Amino acid sequence: MKVLVINAGSSSVKYQLYQMPEADVLAKGAVERIGDKESRLSQTVGGQTHDIEKTVANHEQAMDLILAMLVDPEYGVLKDVSEIASVGHRVVHGGEEFSGSVLIDEAVIASVEKFADLAPLHNPPNLTGIRASQQGLPHAKQVACFDTAFHTTIPEVAYLYALPYELYEKYRVRRYGFHGISHRYVARRAADLMGKDKDSVNIITCHLGNGCSITAVKDGNSVDTSMGLTPLEGVVMGTRTGDFDSAILFYLADKGYSIEELNTLCNKKSGLLGISGQSNDMRNLTELAAGGDERAQLAIDIFAYRVKKYIGTYTAVLGTVDAVVFTGGIGENAVDLRAMICSDQPQIGIEIDADKNAAASGKESQISTTSSRVKVFVIPTDEEAAIAKDTYELAK
Ligand code: ADP
Repeated sequence: MKVLVINAGSSSVKYQLYQMPEADVLAKGAVERIGDKESRLSQTVGGQTHDIEKTVANHEQAMDLILAMLVDPEYGVLKDVSEIASVGHRVVHGGEEFSGSVLIDEAVIASVEKFADLAPLHNPPNLTGIRASQQGLPHAKQVACFDTAFHTTIPEVAYLYALPYELYEKYRVRRYGFHGISHRYVARRAADLMGKDKDSVNIITCHLGNGCSITAVKDGNSVDTSMGLTPLEGVVMGTRTGDFDSAILFYLADKGYSIEELNTLCNKKSGLLGISGQSNDMRNLTELAAGGDERAQLAIDIFAYRVKKYIGTYTAVLGTVDAVVFTGGIGENAVDLRAMICSDQPQIGIEIDADKNAAASGKESQISTTSSRVKVFVIPTDEEAAIAKDTYELAK
């Protein structure tokens, strides 16, 4: 079965075409800068990338272009789009309703629409992608895979904030968590690598990319996660604050900041960028710090400190920890940062091997010493493969 995976953002649609159940990637690509005069599509097949520049006004046109490229006689991989049996869509917010991936019907669409006020930047484009795909591939089964679904096992004691209870009853203000597709994928892979059943392991998964979140996985289920009602809470991120005293907002409001300004400040101007004053990108900061830039070093130090703090917190939550997993662009590649996070943790029982850590970049590996009580893994995430698998299971 051929499964198309779609990740529709506000100005881009990323896609991968899979042959299932083998999970072979037949083609992958992206349409970027949708709505701009200079939109472009880039598609890779068998290691060869082909780019075209074309004005793409909206997501429907982006979908048409993707399908045209997939059947292109020269650069495509299909004879006809009818070969695509099912489409898996990444959907960021499924609220409390979806504990797993589902076949899309009108009721599912209505729910995705309903949760748009909790994820205003993500759910509307996700939905536009679904509509465009229904239009372009009317014969295909459409599946929604939610970033929140894995976290629906988090208990009340961990998902409720200490706000008046009626805010939960009235507005469903609670912790939802995100990156669930990634946390679930790497937790399952870690269980496989340990030769253990996925339901009998306790794991702390650290997804460290531009957005970062950490999850406590108990007996295979998410029991707590660092992101909350929105992806602002938790560890330090590229441009987001992570945890901070909310009263800072009242203090700054008193100084004249508007709600809009505070929103931009916390989501777009803080984190690594805010501390360093230079960049939200860990690679840039590493270079700057190596050249003696103190604020870049400070941003890295604070980032590592917060991750370490969460690992300690979730160790207390889980009681016993079988493994810690690093994933995401930073988690997979930043060797020194992993060493900083895992340093001096004899009480928790984490000890990493410097050589294994240095050799692990970007590939699945165990980086803990043989005597480390807790195993530490680097596992490149593959959210698209996870979506393709769920889609295949539901569609077949
Ligand atoms: P997104 O969350 O947008 O998917 P990624 O998971 O690709 O982002 O992560 C992007 C982050 O990973 C950036 O901060 C980038 O600098 C960092 N990164 C990528 N490669 C390296 C590397 N070799 N060393 C340190 N950081 C890296």
